[in-house]
Amino acid sequence: MNECLLCEQAIAATPSWQSLLGLDKQTNICQDCSKKFQRADNKIESDSIDQVTTLYTYNEAMREYLHQYKFLQDVQLAGIFARELRTHIPTDALVVPIPIHPEKKIQRTFAHVDELLKSAHIPYTHLLEKVDTGAMGEKSKAERLAMKPLFIVKNGVTIQPRTYILIDDIYTTGTTLRHAATVLKQAGATRVEAITLIHA
Ligand SMILES: [Zn+2]
Repeated sequence: MNECLLCEQAIAATPSWQSLLGLDKQTNICQDCSKKFQRADNKIESDSIDQVTTLYTYNEAMREYLHQYKFLQDVQLAGIFARELRTHIPTDALVVPIPIHPEKKIQRTFAHVDELLKSAHIPYTHLLEKVDTGAMGEKSKAERLAMKPLFIVKNGVTIQPRTYILIDDIYTTGTTLRHAATVLKQAGATRVEAITLIHA
């Protein structure tokens, strides 16, 4: 019997083909808690990025979840959305997490995107490096748009003429993803999509 990671009530084991195959290990929150999260399933398109899929709305449950995650520093909590992520990421995709600047790791409100992917057993490669040092939150939208590229392709990395999927935690203005997509396309990617857990 598992306990819900959010409310600690016992989760009834429901045998399924997934659990028999060991794919269902990340079903670690109860029905009551999972119902509180609101699906977004928004698809956003723009010039620089072919498609952004956002999975959940930033609602009260999500706010609490992020708080709990930050407070407990519990990497296990990354696993809550593992199954959802796996559903949306093709198995043959080239998955690229949005990197965070090393200096910002400490003040980050959400654990690194890598933890989400790790808990979902989704292979990924870091192809981008962040070059900006200023905190995004302190800049206006106009300032952010006018900024020099936020990312560069890592040294020694070859971008192939195929589809890449960027992963980030929260979609707010989309600036970060557009910057990352532009850099990948300029380096030779034919298509760049993105998936974010939350739509703020
Ligand atoms: Zn629960």
